Amino acid sequence: MAVNIEAFQQIIRELQPFHAHLVAVSKTKPAEDILELYQEGQKTFGENYVQELVEKQAGLPKGIEWHFIGHLQRNKVKYIAPFISMIQSVDSLKLLKEINKQAKNADRIIDCLLQVHIAEEETKFGLDENELIRLLEEVMADSDSYSHIRIRGLMGMATFTKEEKLVREEFQFMKSLFEQVKEKYVVHLQHFTELSLGMSADYKLALEEGSTLVRIGSLLFGQRTNA
Ligand SMILES: *Cc1c(COP(=O)(O)O)cnc(C)c1O
Repeated sequence: MAVNIEAFQQIIRELQPFHAHLVAVSKTKPAEDILELYQEGQKTFGENYVQELVEKQAGLPKGIEWHFIGHLQRNKVKYIAPFISMIQSVDSLKLLKEINKQAKNADRIIDCLLQVHIAEEETKFGLDENELIRLLEEVMADSDSYSHIRIRGLMGMATFTKEEKLVREEFQFMKSLFEQVKEKYVVHLQHFTELSLGMSADYKLALEEGSTLVRIGSLLFGQRTNA
């Protein structure tokens, strides 16, 4: 399956008026496809599985910025800490603590997004609104213990549905939560600028509702046979 360069160029054009960025989601796709898109100018790639990411990263150009977007187990943070640019799927304080610890070991600072659960599916991961606020309060209260992470914003996945109204409402909820957090914690969160919303099926809606990072896989790389 070849990379869809035309779709890539069109997405890049569509993002420009919104000043948003593309994360090309390459999970389950071969390294050659990533290299092909990288050579077209795409720098940021998103992966969901630690082992797959570690193997691909080792053989691909160091200029690639990797975002982790899947559910992350604490015991696997150490494998990606030496190189990961951003972890978009932080859904607990324990995970954030482990990321900080491994970032410190690697002498790095790792950008993080807090994943919020907005979809109707129970199977999707993420914090609810109360858990998000509680996590932020705990980090603020003990900020010296989090010197190797930077909370850069929020990530959300909408319900998988053709019902545009529902998806739009979920994105609007995320945007208002993002603005509330930014306002409330502005002193502590100077780098809180990113709202990661939108995938192949719904990125246009996401852009209209304020996304700064869209995570697109199948439009660029074709349908996945698994995962
Ligand atoms: C797989 C995945 C995407 C990309 O999905 P597509 O529908 O292929 O664009 C985006 N975000 C997350 C969190 C994913 O797991």
